This record gives sequence, structure tokens and C-alpha cells, in this order.
Amino acid sequence: MSNLSHAVKQAVEKYSGERENLLDIIRDVQGELGCVSDEAIAAIAEQLGTSALDVEGVVTYYHFFSKTPAGKYAVYLNNSAVANMKGRNKVAAAFEEKTGIKFGTVSPDGLIGLYDTSCIGMSDQEPAALINGVVFTNLDAEKVADIVAGMKSGKEVTELIKNYGDGQNQAELIKSMVRSNIMEKGAVIFAPFEQGAALKKAIAMKPDEVINEIKKSSLRGRGGAGFPTGMKWESTAAGQGAKHIICNADEGEPGTFKDRILLTEKPEMVFEGMAVAAYAIGATEGIIYLRAEYAYLRKYLENVLETLRNENILGKNICGKEGFDFDIKIVLAAGSYVCGEESALIESAEGKRGQPRNRPPFPAQKGYRGEPTSVNNVESFCAAARVIEKGSDWFLEIGTQQSRGTKLLSISGACEKPGVYELPFGVTVSEILEKAGVKKAAAVQVGGPTGACVPPSEFERKICYGDLSTGGSIIIFGSDTDILAAVENFMNFFIDESCGWCVPCAVGNTILTKKLEKIIHGNGTQSDLTEIENWCQIVKNMSRCGFGTSSVNPILSTLKNFRHLYEDRLKKDVDYYSEFDLASSIKESCLAVGRKPETEGH
Ligand code: SF4
Repeated sequence: MSNLSHAVKQAVEKYSGERENLLDIIRDVQGELGCVSDEAIAAIAEQLGTSALDVEGVVTYYHFFSKTPAGKYAVYLNNSAVANMKGRNKVAAAFEEKTGIKFGTVSPDGLIGLYDTSCIGMSDQEPAALINGVVFTNLDAEKVADIVAGMKSGKEVTELIKNYGDGQNQAELIKSMVRSNIMEKGAVIFAPFEQGAALKKAIAMKPDEVINEIKKSSLRGRGGAGFPTGMKWESTAAGQGAKHIICNADEGEPGTFKDRILLTEKPEMVFEGMAVAAYAIGATEGIIYLRAEYAYLRKYLENVLETLRNENILGKNICGKEGFDFDIKIVLAAGSYVCGEESALIESAEGKRGQPRNRPPFPAQKGYRGEPTSVNNVESFCAAARVIEKGSDWFLEIGTQQSRGTKLLSISGACEKPGVYELPFGVTVSEILEKAGVKKAAAVQVGGPTGACVPPSEFERKICYGDLSTGGSIIIFGSDTDILAAVENFMNFFIDESCGWCVPCAVGNTILTKKLEKIIHGNGTQSDLTEIENWCQIVKNMSRCGFGTSSVNPILSTLKNFRHLYEDRLKKDVDYYSEFDLASSIKESCLAVGRKPETEGH
């Protein structure tokens, strides 16, 4: 039997030959063979009894799968806006100089591959990279020289990381990457937590009483959209068929890293919150959907789950409650921002391309395996556990009328003290800046690229669902930050991450970004600015899912609050009508989206 056949057979058998486990099967085959070639795709398809097209569709959808060898050492250097603010370009240049190859290529001997990647959840320690899944932080040219020399001499990545003391896929070392700045008084999440306290209280109640307690607390989802958690649990409980609980640990919003902190410092609380939800809705199975960039946490989390099984927080007849059975499995993602959207996440957890579903039906009615499913954020499960432990009245005392409790904020960018902060809802932007050691900020990006770029004149605005809503990303722009370059970075992120299903999002953002680049480089005119505004409305109003509708926010927000930055870079004294050339405009748009203009050659 050839290597390829053996690797495929082994992977398929390991995952019981189930199509649903396709992501794991592909990952294992890639781990054995270095890539998933056409031959491997055909062999996987045959073993699973599906089509090669089906398997190829999945392989080509996710960033961390590759049909060609990615290099013995695959270096994924973060190219987020924060990474750029922290000197990412110098680090990238050092990698290119020392390896002799360009980003997006593999060295001729197949040893090293260099790749750009969007946020890897390390915005507090940029520039950062994943090398074969191991995190390297606070990189500089000197470290790069050392790392590349180590790769050339054949050292293991776990050996290379030792020089820097930050990460060996061991729990205590993962924890050493955490730099938290937690509020000391009034904490909901980071106050001491007694394992089992919330669950014991929950099982002393009836399931609908647990749901009512969560509803009474006014707890809303911590992912940013703020859907009431109790209502979501109630609708799922009322659905027909087996129930499922999914923890969305796929935080991919550039600038967000608070789930990384929660999963390293409070995993028991996350899992206990899931068990409380399972009891409330009647689920026996739970999934934690872990983003691919956090694969190094998998083993650590498996150990935590095993400990909880031994303590009867998970398993059968949990905490002595006859008939209450619940367990959690980890589903590892493969790199797709869109999978943060709950229906896309469910598709991915079923081993498919992570594309959003049409809604209705909503996941609470028809989710994982077509059965009622509640998908909640990592932070939401922690807050839910605390509500049950301490009671809704206690929770209602914290935060504002519309936004109860606290919010974990991932603060990064031009500040002295980046990290995760737990602060009550209602905190103002200026209070956040003070806590993060910022004397003067040019702007604050609240909610990641899809959020708002807040100018200094609005720093008294509040973090809450009624004003500045955020999943947790707070990026501070300093006086030397090129805000339009950050906008360009955000737009390129959306182009890379679009699932490609609908034209306004897949094509419109490319056209928008080309126009933006034209302005940034001093070649734009007033008509480009007008076209940008028109395209923003097309993409916003005609995209199929929330990703597309919010993808134009970086431009809309900065046009509203920093319009002068655009106008200052426009070409002056250009007559609107004489400079407009329809043929060139169409040609430019076609080229921007990779299509051959129809008129070419005529
Ligand atoms: Fe995919 Fe359309 Fe959603 Fe963009 S808006 S992510 S192309 S479904």
C-alpha cells in the first residue's frame, strides 16, 4: 500500500469513516503527507463514499488546508492592522531576506513556506506568527534571524520557541502568554469561581426555572450582536428533536483575543456554563468549536474536559442528578472568519464549507444535524454560569439598564498596557484609554473592522448595546497611525475572508478597495469618493449575510468621522466630467475582480 493510501485509510478509520469528520480527516492526511493533493482528495472521497468535488470544496475553502506542500516549516505571519502598527513589515522583510523567498511561496527545497494570515489572536503581543501551529510573539529582525537559522539546521519548532520562553503547547507556558489587566472589584468573569457551584444550583431548579433566571438577568450574547441568551435557550428547548449546545470559540475579529484568555484561565467556567445550558435546554451533547489559530490549546482543553469528567461535572448522572447526562467534544476549525457566524459555524462543524445558511429556520429550530441548537459565545457561557451561581438580582446591579453585567475587552494598538480588561457596561472610551495608559489617541476602533472608528470628540461614548456594541475588540490608533492604511488593511481582510457565495460581498469589496487604494496613493478624484459611497450602499444593502452588510463599515465609519483624511489625498483641480471615462472604469472594475474585460482586444 502506498504512503498516500495508508495515510488516507488510517485517517478515515480514526474518524469512524464519517463524512461529518471531514475536517479532521483532511487535517490528519495533510499532517502525514504535507498537503492534500488531487490524488489524496480522490482517495478520501472514495473511502467516505462521497464525490471528489465535495472533498475538494472543503479543502479549498479553509486557509489552513493546502493542495500543494506548504513547507516543512509553514510560517504564518500576522498581517493585521495592529501587527502593522507594531512593526510587522520589518519582520516580514527579515523573513524574506533570511529565507530568500517571498511571502506566498515555498523555498525550492520545500523547507520553509511564508504566508500572510489575518489576526491570530495575539494583538497584545505583536508582531506574532504561527509556525507549524506554535505561537511566536514580539518578533523582531534578530529573533527572525535566529528562527530561520534554527529551521535551516533542522531544529523542531518546539526547540526554536525555547529561546523566547513563550509557548510550547504546554498549559503553563500557554498561560505565560497571557497578559491580563483584570478589574479587581465587581468582576463577573474573573472573580474566584468555585467549580460546580453554578451547576449544583442549576440542577436544584427545574430546567425552565434556569431559563427564567437567565431571562430575568437580561444577559445578552457577548459576541457583539447581543441577542438575549435566555430567549435563545428557551427557543432551543422548545424545538423538536435532540438538542445541541455549541460554544463558539472562533473569535476571529481582528484585535480580539479575550477568548484565548478565557480558554487558558477559565476553561472550567466555560464548560460549566455549557453544562448549565445543556441542563436548561435538555441537551446531551455539546461542542466547543475552537478556532484553528488556537489549535495549541486543544490538548490542554482535552485535559480539562477529562478532569471535569472525573469530577462528575461532565458525564453521566452529573453531580448526582439522575438522568442528567452531558459531554463536550472539541471540533477544531481550519481557518475561516465567516465561521464565526453561527449557521456557518454549524455547517463547518458538520464537516462542510463554512458558508452561512439561509434563515429562517434559525439554529434554535434547525441547527446542528438539523436539530435544535443553541450557539453561544465563550464569554456568554461564563456569564451564564455566574448568573446561576450568584442570582439574577446580583447581576442586575452591574452595568447599565440596557446592558447588564461586565464586558471583556481585548485592548491593543497604541497603548502602554495592552491586554484583556473586564469592565462594567457603560464604561466610556476615555475611561478605557486612561486604564490602558493612553495619553492621546487619534481614534479608537471599537468592535474590530465591522465596528466604529471613534474620533476624539466622541470619547465620552459608552461601551454598551445601545451605543458602542462590541464583541471585545478595542484597537487604539495613535497620532502616528495612518488611519486610511488601517481601513485598507480591514478591507483586504474582508476580501480574503468572504465566502464568495454572493456577488455584492465577493466582488463589491474588491472594487471598493481598489478605489480606496487609488485615493490613498494620491490618484483618486471626487468621483472616486462618490463611487465609493455608492458601492458601500450596494454591498451593505444587497449582501446575503451579516459579514457582507457590515464589511463596508470601516469605510463608512471613517468617511463619517474622518472625511478630511480622504479629501486631503484627492487629486486637486480635476473636472468631474472630463476625467470620468466609462470604458476605463468598467475595465478597472473587471480587472479588480479578476475578470477579463469583454471589450479587451476590440
Ligand atoms: Fe458569503 Fe455573501 Fe455572507 Fe459575503 S455576504 S460572507 S459572500 S454569504
